[in-house]
Amino acid sequence: DIITTDVVIIGAGAAGITAGKTLTEGGITDLVILEATGKVGGRIRNADFAGVKVELGANWIEGVNGQKENPVYRLASEVNLKFSYSFYDNCTENIYDHTGYLDPEVVAPAVELAEQSFDFVVALGTNFTEENVEDISILTAQRFFGHVPSTPVEMVIDSFNYDFTCAEPPRVTSLKNSEPLPTDSILGPDSFFVADPRGYATVLEPLAQYLNSANGLWTDPRLKLNTVVTKIEYSTEGVTVYTEDGTIYKAKAAILTVSIGVLQSDLIDFSPDLPFWKLSAIYQFNMAIYTKIFLKFPRTFWPTGPGTEYILYADEMRGYFPFWQHLDNEFPGENLIFTTVTDDESRRIEQMPENETLAEIMVVLRKMFGQDIPNATDILYPRWWQDKFFRGTFSNWPIGVSSYEYKQLQAPVGRLYFSGEHCSEQYNGYVHGAIFAGDETAHEVLKCLQENDCNTIIPRGLK
Ligand code: FAD
Repeated sequence: DIITTDVVIIGAGAAGITAGKTLTEGGITDLVILEATGKVGGRIRNADFAGVKVELGANWIEGVNGQKENPVYRLASEVNLKFSYSFYDNCTENIYDHTGYLDPEVVAPAVELAEQSFDFVVALGTNFTEENVEDISILTAQRFFGHVPSTPVEMVIDSFNYDFTCAEPPRVTSLKNSEPLPTDSILGPDSFFVADPRGYATVLEPLAQYLNSANGLWTDPRLKLNTVVTKIEYSTEGVTVYTEDGTIYKAKAAILTVSIGVLQSDLIDFSPDLPFWKLSAIYQFNMAIYTKIFLKFPRTFWPTGPGTEYILYADEMRGYFPFWQHLDNEFPGENLIFTTVTDDESRRIEQMPENETLAEIMVVLRKMFGQDIPNATDILYPRWWQDKFFRGTFSNWPIGVSSYEYKQLQAPVGRLYFSGEHCSEQYNGYVHGAIFAGDETAHEVLKCLQENDCNTIIPRGLK
């Protein structure tokens, strides 16, 4: 089959759904959304675990109560999403190591030093941007501060400050593009943790009003689920999209919202090959990995009560089951807790069977809480890195990519436009970044199709 349409959107995550809304509002309704999986939402996805719904992907509405409104917060309010305020700062009261609980007075000097270092790094990042100084890594900035975290307690606080957000360590992450983080400094310092049986992806429903839902939500025939794009042909005249089921879509323009991890893989064949400058930008940017491991116990043995939900485990190995969060507030009486790992630890546990991962976790938990604690009765974690439709969890800005190179990541090739969270210069890595990017890219496509202002000029650089 050959289907002709104005615009093909590839991916029904936050960016793709938003792009469709903006196109519709701009007068383009002849559009098709092609989504590889059987669900809308992409990296916003929940699952059943031990009788409740947990979020395997995005979990927080990050960046609230600042100078600019976070659209996700507004959408969440519109659908009355259930979420709770995150008291991150309290986690330094709840630090454990192989000997068990650490007295807050003992860890206080490390906490204090980490705070001073963090403030210094943010100030240096601000200064580097203002003075247009060449970028350095966050680790380099810490050396300028005069102290690099090295004890288990220092390392776990450090990874909480950086890896817990970026999913990569400070030696990888760009100073200028990560500190201060616009999500905190512009959208606001507050974060909310979503736990709603309908799922975080409910925030997409108000955005998707343009899709006809007379026969139920997500039933508009323009939305094609379980449709895998295999090849994209592009030129300055238009785009042809080939799918696994043999259907071919010919469009005046296309918006590709697949993750940077997918762009780095060979899932989609481009014809002609993507130009060197484009590939170079794609290959230089990072797809980070962040894994939440959910656990169910017969009883609670962790601290409970206000401000206890975040717990840190200080191991000699940086990143070894460092972050813990209980779900007593969200799911009272269910005895649920989860631990988060990132980067190489995520890669490692994605390759391990659940029972082996659980055995390691139980050793850690017994060091923290004593030998008498019961075994977990259930474990669940997603494998985003191994999933060919994602290849990781969210983009992280690495040292070495300037704003100019970043523009090449966003730039169209012919009438093929690129979008998704990795295309939001200020808010990459977040749900709100995906929404901002989807909206911006759709505006560019509208300009192209309606004003013939196609901006398909290839930016400077090697062809
Ligand atoms: P995606 O959601 O990836 O959408 C792209 C779509 O393209 C996918 O549905 C995919 O199936 C589809 N696709 C891929 N290949 C093909 C193909 N060949 N053909 C057709 N379709 C294809 N953000 C926050 O704001 N707060 C958080 O707390 C947070 N935590 C996170 C934790 C995890 C574990 C993960 C995974 C992400 C987290 N994020 C968080 C990031 C946030 O989820 C993403 O930035 C955002 O959802 C990305 O949206 P997107 O539309 O750009 O991409």
